[in-house]
Amino acid sequence: HYQLTTNPVWVNGRVKGAVVLILDITEKRAAEQIRREFSANVSHELKTPLTSILGYAEIIKNGMVKIEDIPRFAERIYNEANHLIALIDDIIKLSRLDEDNIDIPRKRVNLLELSKRVCARLEPQAREKSVIVSVSGQNGFVFGVEEILEQMIYNLCDNAIKYNKENGRVDVNISPSAKEVVLTVSDTGIGIPKEHQSRVFERFYRVDKSRSNRTSGTGLGLSIVKHGAMHHNARIELESQPGHGTTIRIIFPVSHN
Ligand code: ADP
Repeated sequence: HYQLTTNPVWVNGRVKGAVVLILDITEKRAAEQIRREFSANVSHELKTPLTSILGYAEIIKNGMVKIEDIPRFAERIYNEANHLIALIDDIIKLSRLDEDNIDIPRKRVNLLELSKRVCARLEPQAREKSVIVSVSGQNGFVFGVEEILEQMIYNLCDNAIKYNKENGRVDVNISPSAKEVVLTVSDTGIGIPKEHQSRVFERFYRVDKSRSNRTSGTGLGLSIVKHGAMHHNARIELESQPGHGTTIRIIFPVSHN
């Protein structure tokens, strides 16, 4: 897609020529398209839990539920409302990442310390699934926005626990070299089939909607990771073997200051 603009060049009150500007707006168009689709998906994703909540509330309001069934209905309303909050939180995080200039100051962040902190926060989830989480490696420094880096590591480790097996393992490793700092999150979980691997970073994309719906999640976790990586000029690598596990690597440029 191209955008054409022409402007006359005036010399001494006369038109002496023209400046023709041809802009390649293919990328801009693609970005607009993604944004439009995203808005449509957002309304759909928000309406789904709200419709359930309304449905359950209406049945209770009309006195159509037996007293003993009310706790079950309350539980469903509670879960749907929680899902709604998780969706709104992730949508806000993602739209903040979409702004061109994030005004949070950058600083030197030690990814090893940050990973340890994140994994400590995830301890209850890990214990519930009997998953062992370990953090290894060396101090690796990245010049970036700590809040975003923390969210990225959180989302990766949260997935590694969520899509793991009982008694599985999650290994987080920080490996710095002269040029790069590599953050690796490996799990012994269910894995991602080849045909889905390139799509899991898309907004709202989930490998198996019915399976995923039972596990809490918004389908936005990895797109937050992708946008966070873009903000730090980092690249992402994914390796996964269904039934064996997944390894995701984020390769950051090293901070020298
Ligand atoms: P969700 O909220 O569904 O976890 P994400 O964007 O974080 O959304 O991940 C998208 C999908 O990718 C998930 O629904 C899941 O199917 C798959 N996925 C992500 N991480 C893993 C992992 N470590 N192991 C297996 N599947 C994963």
